[in-house]
Amino acid sequence: MRNTQRIDDTIVVTVQWVTIMKECTKCGKGKELVEFKKDKTKKGGHYSSCRECNKKAWKANYANIAESHRLKNKRYADANPDKVKRYSKRYYVQHRDAALLRSAKWREDNRGHANSLRTVSKKRYRQAMPVWADRDKINSFYIEAVRKTDITGTQHHVDHIIPIKGVNVCGLHIAENLQVITALENAKKHNHF
Ligand SMILES: [Zn+2]
Repeated sequence: MRNTQRIDDTIVVTVQWVTIMKECTKCGKGKELVEFKKDKTKKGGHYSSCRECNKKAWKANYANIAESHRLKNKRYADANPDKVKRYSKRYYVQHRDAALLRSAKWREDNRGHANSLRTVSKKRYRQAMPVWADRDKINSFYIEAVRKTDITGTQHHVDHIIPIKGVNVCGLHIAENLQVITALENAKKHNHF
C-alpha cells in the first residue's frame, strides 16, 4: 500500500508500507486490520469489533443458550417429576445392556486405563491425588503394567513408592510416586516410612 503525503510544496513523503490501524467498537483498542474479520456487507469491508471481542461475544452467547436449555429442562422436570422419572427409567432399561456391553468392551480394550480409573474410584487414592496431578501420566503407568504383564507373562503391578497410607508419611497418587514392579516384588516390598 502506497501512502503519499504532501508536507509542503517541496517535500513529498511516500510511505511504501503502512500499517492500517482500526479501532474496535467493543474494546476500544486500536488494532491492526488483520485483527478484524472481513465482511463485505459492512462499510469498510470489516467487522467493527475485533476478532477477540467477536470470539468473546460468541462464547458468552453460547453459554447463555446452553444455560437457557438447562433451565428449560429443569423447569420441565420440576413440573413433571413422574413423567421424567418414567422416561429416564425406560431409557435406562432400554439402554442398560448396550451400555454395559460397551463399557465392558472398552475396559477389555483399555485394561491399563481401566485399572487406573478403578484405582481412583477408591476413596483413599482419590484423596491422595492433588488437583494438579497429571492424569495422563498416571494412566501411562497402569498401561505400562499391563504391557509388561502381557509380554513377560509375569504379573506386574503399579506400586506407590511412598505408600498412600504409610506409617509415618503418606505418599501421593501422582506419577512421580509411581513405579511398575512385579507382583512378587510388590509383595516382598517392606516400607519403612
Ligand atoms: Zn475488541
